[in-house]
Amino acid sequence: MAIATINPATGETVKTYEPLSEEALEEKLGRAAAAYRSYRLTTPEQRVGWLRAAADVLEADTDAVAELMVTEMGKTLAAAKAETGKCVKALRYYAEHGPAMLEPRPADAGAVGAERAFVVHQPIGVVLAIMPWNFPLWQAMRFAAPALMAGNVGLLKHASNVPQTALYMEELFRRAGFPADVFQTLLIGSSTIERVLRDDRVAAATLTGSAPAGQSVAAIAGDVLKKTVLELGGSDPFIVMPSADLDRAAEVAVTARCQNNGQSCIAAKRFFVHADVAEEFTRLFAEKLSALVVGDPMDDATKVGPLATESGREDVERYVQDAVDKGATVVVGGTRPDRPGWYYEPTLLTGITPEMDLFDEEVFGPVAALWTVQSLEEALEIANSHPYGLGANLWSEDEDERATFVRDVESGMAFVNGMVTSYPELPFGGVKQSGYGRELTELGMYEFTNAKTVWVG
Ligand code: NDP
Repeated sequence: MAIATINPATGETVKTYEPLSEEALEEKLGRAAAAYRSYRLTTPEQRVGWLRAAADVLEADTDAVAELMVTEMGKTLAAAKAETGKCVKALRYYAEHGPAMLEPRPADAGAVGAERAFVVHQPIGVVLAIMPWNFPLWQAMRFAAPALMAGNVGLLKHASNVPQTALYMEELFRRAGFPADVFQTLLIGSSTIERVLRDDRVAAATLTGSAPAGQSVAAIAGDVLKKTVLELGGSDPFIVMPSADLDRAAEVAVTARCQNNGQSCIAAKRFFVHADVAEEFTRLFAEKLSALVVGDPMDDATKVGPLATESGREDVERYVQDAVDKGATVVVGGTRPDRPGWYYEPTLLTGITPEMDLFDEEVFGPVAALWTVQSLEEALEIANSHPYGLGANLWSEDEDERATFVRDVESGMAFVNGMVTSYPELPFGGVKQSGYGRELTELGMYEFTNAKTVWVG
């Protein structure tokens, strides 16, 4: 895949980059290792100052960065601005809470025959972040903010279609005053990742992206015994029970499915609706999906922009065609609009059966699959049969149903009467094929720290 900015709204190639040569990569790795030797000795208070400065720089750059993201991957301008604001918040969150997270944790010294005993979280070194294009700033930032706060050094291998956002990240931390080379972007293709991951100067890796990319990185990291965190795909269930506020649930269902033009790992993708309210919910959902304005992502009125890549749209079309061929009903959408760019209509499918590819895979576009179920147990059984387990939504006013859902749904996150979203204040991650490890909160920070036990006699 060429490293290039290709505007998904027009198909035009805006800017192309040569991948780093082996010499340039070697130099950057050397600089990262050198930066770590001194950066690990900086104090949490110093890092707080740099994080706060980064938040201020990013906040001032909001409009320009948002436009860059729209040009590179087609999200709406409003969504891009919101993403930038979220990154500012995450930088400030770790600036505010980071020092307390890094305080030594006293242990029961008497019980272990010590005068003092405690655990201290120390940085582990240079961490490679392999990131996707769908939230080009946020995915990278939710790694960078805690990692830099903890005293690690970052190397970003971003998706090949968002090189300018990737270069902006490096520039942001430099302009914020972080010591040189503490955060570098590597313009490399995915075939060079193995060489970087095997390098002794790289301590660990985090990847957000597809399951095949995760398997590849985990296999290499396993071979050289390096820590990884994987945040992979999702096909989140969205369960609607009879006691739900149907109008509100349908409103959120539309956002949950079509946010980011349908390209989010935590988008609700499978909708399970109780038979008692299936007709009404389907009507409301279809009505609201059809009302979405599909168009130029720079336009304020637009709710759904183009898909990020031409091949991404082809994948979505293939899933819909396969489902239709095997008997699914198209309630809304099901086609690409007649215009340049990689657009696809918000789509609602019913009559889903296990033979259809979308039954147990991930559709990365604005396509909702809806099942009518007789009970919460049936919804959970089908939901849990999927290999992924990232987020899950339940809409119900019934306390017993909520408790059953939280206990039994196989996911890393369970949201009741609300949309699965990431917040710096809540851990983010999945189970099963959705990956392992957690991002955000102190758990995200500790993934890349050495929890060192200290015993003093
Ligand atoms: P990828 O997983 O291919 O890309 C994500 C990142 O991984 C990119 O930086 C990519 O680099 C890199 N990468 C690709 N292949 C490998 C590999 N073998 N080893 C190591 N790193 C690799 O996602 P796509 O963009 O191709 O999207 C495909 C599907 O993945 C989507 O349809 C969706 O289902 C899922 N996905 C899920 C995301 C999520 O948020 N969980 C995000 C993006 C995709 P490069 O760009 O250079 O190939």
